[in-house]
Amino acid sequence: MEERAIGTSWAQALSELGTILKLDATQAELMLEDACRREPHVCRRCGNERIYRLGGGRLRCAECRYSFRPFTGRWLGRHRLPATVWLAAIKCFELGLGARELAQVAELSLPTAAELERTIQMSLAALDPQWTTVVRACASGGDVTRSFKIRQQGDGVKVEALPEAGDDVRIDLPPAGSTPDSLRAFRAGVRRWARLPADRLALKLKEWELRSNRRTGLFELALEALVRYMPAGVADA
Ligand SMILES: [Zn+2]
Repeated sequence: MEERAIGTSWAQALSELGTILKLDATQAELMLEDACRREPHVCRRCGNERIYRLGGGRLRCAECRYSFRPFTGRWLGRHRLPATVWLAAIKCFELGLGARELAQVAELSLPTAAELERTIQMSLAALDPQWTTVVRACASGGDVTRSFKIRQQGDGVKVEALPEAGDDVRIDLPPAGSTPDSLRAFRAGVRRWARLPADRLALKLKEWELRSNRRTGLFELALEALVRYMPAGVADA
């Protein structure tokens, strides 16, 4: 179940990662700012969308005059890191590399790399409105459910977080039989995941759903997810 969900060869994937690490700071920043256009700037104070640019990269609301940074309130704004590091983190995520590998390639501490991976996971989970409660709890250290229901959906799977709280991990699976390959692998490895803390288990399951259903374009999807504004109740880190 740790299968690498990439649509390209390893050689190509690693060469793409190398290209990202060699980008100069300005190029990388432009890539991130460009991605922000998919989710236009909104004033963090009054919600107004008429925003203009100030010097030094800051933005100002035309209505209430509040000024803020381009990533404020977005998932991307949770960590103040160079754009190249963000892009490397997204690439590592696409490749199925974990925090340890990211820490090495981007020269980060392991806790920072783990936080980046977690923010990517949360941003992707937040694309599913049914997961807002879980994401909010994961982001704020609240109680996260350990109950899930996994359904077969077309060729893929759908993971639902169930509201009932309990200390034991409960994962309802479709009956064994004509299930997708991803579910077979899941059954084989589920006990390992069940030992994870509740928040990590929830985010891992949601990530697994995404990887099971989608083989390509994870880099673009993660970038799109990260430039979204965080749901209400998720504080800037
Ligand atoms: Zn405003």
